[in-house]
Amino acid sequence: MNNKIIVTGGSGMVGRSLKEIMPEATYLSSSDFDLTKESDVVRMYSLYKPDAVIHLAAKVGGIIDNINKPSEYFVDNVMMNTLLVDYAYKFKVSRFIGILSTCIYPDKLDKYPMKEDVLHQGPPTPTNFSYGYAKRCLAVHIDACNKQYNTNYQYLTPCNLYGEYDKFGENSHFVAALIKKIHKAKINKEDNITLFGTGSPLRQFMHSGDLAKIIKKCLEKNIYDNFNVATEENVSINDIAKIALKACEAENIKIKYDSTKPDGQFRKDVSIEKLKSIFPEFQATDLYSGIKNAYIKKFK
Ligand code: NAP
Repeated sequence: MNNKIIVTGGSGMVGRSLKEIMPEATYLSSSDFDLTKESDVVRMYSLYKPDAVIHLAAKVGGIIDNINKPSEYFVDNVMMNTLLVDYAYKFKVSRFIGILSTCIYPDKLDKYPMKEDVLHQGPPTPTNFSYGYAKRCLAVHIDACNKQYNTNYQYLTPCNLYGEYDKFGENSHFVAALIKKIHKAKINKEDNITLFGTGSPLRQFMHSGDLAKIIKKCLEKNIYDNFNVATEENVSINDIAKIALKACEAENIKIKYDSTKPDGQFRKDVSIEKLKSIFPEFQATDLYSGIKNAYIKKFK
């Protein structure tokens, strides 16, 4: 891999995991370039003249922020993605990997787990409708670019992610918020934590380091397919919370639910048949080990 690789979103959770195993690439953040602005995107491509772009940058947030700011989620993501792909072609970038998300798949389907080809078979869930459509546009754009210009651009569709580099403050994702709640309860000697919803929805959660490994493997092995990246485990929120309590050595703490808050989609598990056919040797980190590791690195 002697090519010049740039990684947008390099300061984010996945970017920092990728940097650990692919330090030779250039990692960029919003303080280097605001990728929603055309002039910044052109400046970035002119300056680096990359052979490969790993496009991780996105406006990413939790369920409440998505509900409150749907227009921001749509505009920022559509602008970034459209400019990034369009100028990749104009600057003759040979390799482009864009990152979608399994939450952009249809809200409800008859058959689970969802394969890659169901992406456009229904609208995304209402709680992240605009983010979902913005990310779908990235898939449409990459497919269109390949069709019209014969490029070999690619997208990967990861499930929910977590890890030590996640945001543990306001607007954090489920696992980071859970670990933080457990940590706080331990410090304050509280005997319970309260989670949103009912605890019944099913989720696939992958450590961000595992997605980073797949991205690196795609580059090294010249894999250009579009495919889901997820774990085999599809676990209820309640079971994830129990695993997290064990991993954080807090099994005495009880879980309460605030059912006045939304659950989100009941299930959205995706098939990893294609992932397994491409990388049969790949083993995702199990939830217990991943959460334990994230907890130790972040709070101990
Ligand atoms: P993250 O931690 O929220 O990081 C987002 C990254 O995007 C940061 O580096 C941020 O830079 C950058 N960014 C945001 N707005 C920007 C702008 N206007 N111009 C330039 N850079 C900008 O995200 P992540 O969790 O690593 O996610 C990486 C990718 O995976 C995203 O495409 C996301 O949609 C996808 N994904 C994430 C999850 C998940 O559970 N986290 C699940 C599925 C898919 P600053 O640090 O400077 O703000």
